[in-house]
Amino acid sequence: MSLASQSLSSLRRQLTAGNITSRDIVQDTIEQISARDGEIKAFLSHDPETALAEAEKADLSLPLGGLPIGIKDNINVRNHPCSCASKFLEGAYHSPYDATAVIKLRAAGAIPFGRLNLDEFAMGSSTENSALQITQNPKAPGHIPGGSSGGSAAAVAGDLISAALGSDTGGSIRQPASHCGVVGLKPSYGRVSRYGLVAFGSSLDQIGPLTRTVEDSALLLNALAGGDLRDSTSLDDDVPDYTEGLENGVAGMKLGLPKEYFTDGIDAGVRARVEKAAADLEAQGAEIIEISLPHTEYAVATYYIIAPAEASSNLSRFDGIRYGNRSSEADDILSVYQKSREEGFGSEVKRRIILGTYVLSSGYYDAYYSRALKVRTLIRRDFEEAFEKVDAILTPVTPETAPKIGAAAGDPLKHYLADIFTISANLAGNCGISVPLEPIDGKPVGLQILGPHLGEKTILRTARAVEALGS
Ligand code: GLN
Repeated sequence: MSLASQSLSSLRRQLTAGNITSRDIVQDTIEQISARDGEIKAFLSHDPETALAEAEKADLSLPLGGLPIGIKDNINVRNHPCSCASKFLEGAYHSPYDATAVIKLRAAGAIPFGRLNLDEFAMGSSTENSALQITQNPKAPGHIPGGSSGGSAAAVAGDLISAALGSDTGGSIRQPASHCGVVGLKPSYGRVSRYGLVAFGSSLDQIGPLTRTVEDSALLLNALAGGDLRDSTSLDDDVPDYTEGLENGVAGMKLGLPKEYFTDGIDAGVRARVEKAAADLEAQGAEIIEISLPHTEYAVATYYIIAPAEASSNLSRFDGIRYGNRSSEADDILSVYQKSREEGFGSEVKRRIILGTYVLSSGYYDAYYSRALKVRTLIRRDFEEAFEKVDAILTPVTPETAPKIGAAAGDPLKHYLADIFTISANLAGNCGISVPLEPIDGKPVGLQILGPHLGEKTILRTARAVEALGS
């Protein structure tokens, strides 16, 4: 069994026992990538020399000492490229600094490793919007890995690396984790600093781990969580030990099944898997309660107003002056802006900027943007009421298993609608995790466990109980 195919916790045990070195792990990761990533195409780049040099200096006494962690290419790592899988930044931007999440990984002893593919600027749910390459789903070749953290999920699922960081604005950690059969955790808004994550929707974005096991997810969250003066939306609340209590099981827990999430649009196989997981947890002593999240039907529309509005503002910094591409065709200041943006951005990013600019424009602000904010409050209240009755909520992650590459080409609405189960957690600021269930015809399926704000311990413990069913 290759080292790169093992969990962080297993590698950690072997490292501390002195059976392997950090260099062995990094070397194996490099070899796995050169042997198989030509086909999977999860990594956009990596820097073997730096990683091996960092492995030599690894401090094994730290919680993640000597362990390489893949990094989505919208999270800044000092001296490495950060392209956001966009032509705008490709080959034209190297990070002068580490994101806080990366600083924290290093402080825990980990080695940030490589740059992982994504939908351009994290806009999408298939990684097909990457301007640089198409990533394959290692568990279902020919199918999408999901997105936007498709490179992160595929790298872990394809046994190229043990764990990776992704970002989740509307499902981009949980959905690719589900499609690739790995564990993906979106922390509560504010739990992990966003400093150094290239902003998409600032009120929605969170960095989180994609891992092979629930325990690894907790290990990484231990390192990532905490307040940060450089992100005023990060929370200074105490960081518990997320690995503690993982094995406590679900006996006595109240788990909700929201009736609005089990409607006609969902694949019968996916539905059956989720219902079976609920029944299995019930058999272990959890109480399963039907709940209602009445504003679910407005979530997609609300998200696709708020996220593009924030994106249109965040992406205005890419103007040809300061970052990345500057058009060589431009001959005055206005055409620098226009031509650089026209050439640099792909069509989905342009669509979001146009949508966002429209909903923020003076004639439409009240009709769209401010109304969406009001509905967002209703969605948040739905969850607050639900979490008075239950400890966590069980749902599908996506209505279907991974579609074939190209299946939804030219149909952005189809992608948007498939985000129905994941985006509410971002709108409400809650945490959520995707944990693998039994595949359908070889294609992975995930169970989503949603928790209240800062309820990470509860969802990790529930996810561990689900994971233990299969092992
Ligand atoms: N699929 C959603 C979108 O396209 C979510 C993306 C994300 O979470 N970054 O906006």
